[in-house]
Amino acid sequence: MLYIGCHLSSAGGFQAMAETAVKIQANTFQFFLRNPRGGAAKDIDIKDVKNFQKIAQQNNFGKVLAHAPYTLNPCSKDLKTREFARQVFADDLQRMEHIPGNLYNFHPGSHVGQGVKIAIPQIVEILDEVMTEAKHTTVLLETMSGKGSEVGSTFEELAEIIAQTKDNALEKLGVCLDTCHVYSAGYDIINHLDEVLEKFDKIIGLQRLQAIHLNDSMTEFNSHKDRHEKLGQGSLGLEGIIRFVNHPALQGIPLNLETPNELAGYAEEIAMIKKNYQHD
Ligand code: FE
Ligand code: FE
Ligand code: ZN
Repeated sequence: MLYIGCHLSSAGGFQAMAETAVKIQANTFQFFLRNPRGGAAKDIDIKDVKNFQKIAQQNNFGKVLAHAPYTLNPCSKDLKTREFARQVFADDLQRMEHIPGNLYNFHPGSHVGQGVKIAIPQIVEILDEVMTEAKHTTVLLETMSGKGSEVGSTFEELAEIIAQTKDNALEKLGVCLDTCHVYSAGYDIINHLDEVLEKFDKIIGLQRLQAIHLNDSMTEFNSHKDRHEKLGQGSLGLEGIIRFVNHPALQGIPLNLETPNELAGYAEEIAMIKKNYQHD
């Protein structure tokens, strides 16, 4: 089963996102629970959520993916920033309980000179604390490109975060693989996809791969930059992206586009992926 969608504005609420998704032939989507810069979140409207769930059920949606604010940095040097991350994280996970059974993705953060050895236990400390709120939500660490001092650009770092968390967190933790980010981080999913997935399986475990961000990249392989491009217009290229989507080990995992597009562009990319999809 192919679950494909894109990042949508949450300004109009859940029902509006579901309707937009249906309009562009998507059967999943990604969204922010609050302003991506980390401002206050709107109150959840129960009726709006119910309407969303109805549309999702009628249209056989896969899991939807909430994205944490970009400003959330669980491994900042600054205690106040870490405290903010903890509060927003916990609050978001509580909100997610209104739409149980879905996914919440976050960037492990930037250590800004502290080094990974200090950063990872800080990320783990916050995870251990907030995961009690994630009763029916799977929390995903996103694979990062490694720009600046980003943590999580290697499978080893992600595995280390997961390994250090307490049991309560461990069960509900997964990974969201961003195709632009991993390619920029030096994992060649275009020419050596089997090897990369084997590595992922060995180091993290493929069962933890719960979501995919499907993006092309404006920058070359191993550039450690984070510049998304439209599918087929970047360094990954259309052929490799189609091979990726059709890989037997990746079936059933929701794919979300974060390409530089308006809705019409997303609709075109979704149609293109569907046309080239070789399973059922
Ligand atoms: Fe992201
Ligand atoms: Fe992403
Ligand atoms: Zn990115």
